[in-house]
Amino acid sequence: MGTVLTGATICTASGAFRADLRLEGETVDSVGFGLARPGDAVVDLPDRLLLPGAVDVHTHFDLPLTTTSTADDFASGTAAALLGGTTTVVDYATAFRGQSAAEGIEAWHGRADGRAFCDYAFHLALTDWKGSLAEELPSVIDGGISSFKLYMAYKGSLQVDDGALYAAARRIGELGGLLCVHCENGDLVAARAEELVASGVTGPAGHPLSRPASVEAEAVGRMIAIADLARCPLYVVHVSAERSMREIVMARRRGQPLFAETCPQYLLLDEGRYGREGLKAAAFVLAPPLRSAADGRALWGRLARGEIDTVATDHCSFTLAQKAVGLDDFRLIPNGLPGVEHRLVLLYSEGVAKGRLSLERFVDSCCTAPARLFGLRGKGSLEPGSDGDVVVFDPRVEWVLSASNQHHRTDYTPYEGLAVKGRVESVFLRGRRLVDGGTLLDGTPRGRYRRRQPFSKGVRP
Ligand SMILES: [Zn+2]
Repeated sequence: MGTVLTGATICTASGAFRADLRLEGETVDSVGFGLARPGDAVVDLPDRLLLPGAVDVHTHFDLPLTTTSTADDFASGTAAALLGGTTTVVDYATAFRGQSAAEGIEAWHGRADGRAFCDYAFHLALTDWKGSLAEELPSVIDGGISSFKLYMAYKGSLQVDDGALYAAARRIGELGGLLCVHCENGDLVAARAEELVASGVTGPAGHPLSRPASVEAEAVGRMIAIADLARCPLYVVHVSAERSMREIVMARRRGQPLFAETCPQYLLLDEGRYGREGLKAAAFVLAPPLRSAADGRALWGRLARGEIDTVATDHCSFTLAQKAVGLDDFRLIPNGLPGVEHRLVLLYSEGVAKGRLSLERFVDSCCTAPARLFGLRGKGSLEPGSDGDVVVFDPRVEWVLSASNQHHRTDYTPYEGLAVKGRVESVFLRGRRLVDGGTLLDGTPRGRYRRRQPFSKGVRP
């Protein structure tokens, strides 16, 4: 017995068309007309869009920091993701200094397994580089973790130096992996932050001043050179500035395997938020910080043209009380914003509905490209044989985003009061409808861990 979704428009990365879609078991069985078989449930969905379950390749759930932990754990984070049409997340498992890769990964399985409402996979973030890690990487890749993250920022905790970046990139490239890098010059950030605090700029307004676009663009350019020398494909996470995109586009023209991710907050919000008082500004502290409105406009253009490959959220949520600890010293404000639930609706409403983004680019950047780049077989597509991950999206519904109607475990949303067009109506995960009418139908966490293919086995640029 299957389920036939009729009357909707099927949206893919290469085009949108009217057809029915039949789900059977855990997969998409067929796409076309006259698909119903005896015993099938037929669901009529006039005027709706059918999208592939969206893939968010940048989340931080249950991430421990020195003094606190992110507000969302795997239960609340993946439930919010699913309600917003994201059926797979790739979270950054982290091997903290002194830990082996295996210890870091085991800890993340402990946080996620049995708690996730959508499917999930891990990247592995490395906070230092040493021979024992190099030896561990083949078994990590065998376990389905084929992308690795290093930080050029967060001096004294996560940051690694250029030698480590180079050595890690050599090894990752050699093994067919993909290297994800947080590009900001951490030494410059630390020096500027100290200077600002010494001069009396201690509030949240100091945060963006400590890490301007040049600090990001310099690191992007440097990392591009390192990855090129190391012959390692590079994925630049959360690109926030046009200045950084210029570095990326130039290197791509030279033929370097290089990919760019941005996030809804860099497309939709700007640095004006830091001019507000106290918590109203602290709520928007993240790294890289929000940029100028001109940067946002430029990023929309880059995304529309395919120069930005993916949109992920970098969901890293804290409550206002957690943000408040750094009101008198911006260096202590935990960095990050909530957003995993709102990516699809924001990109549809502000992108597609406003004519800034084609339906194809919307599907590609939110669903198909992230699945392809990160080796998530069966995800991001509605072709027969794909996982039965389907989002029923009603493009006609108008509503207002608010902390009171979100499912993130935070007491604010960066998009409070934003009127949006389009709503996720129901969501199927591997053939089973788990969300309908904006609510979870089932309190059972049914998400599964997904092993990913190495980048070298996937589609190359
Ligand atoms: Zn992040």
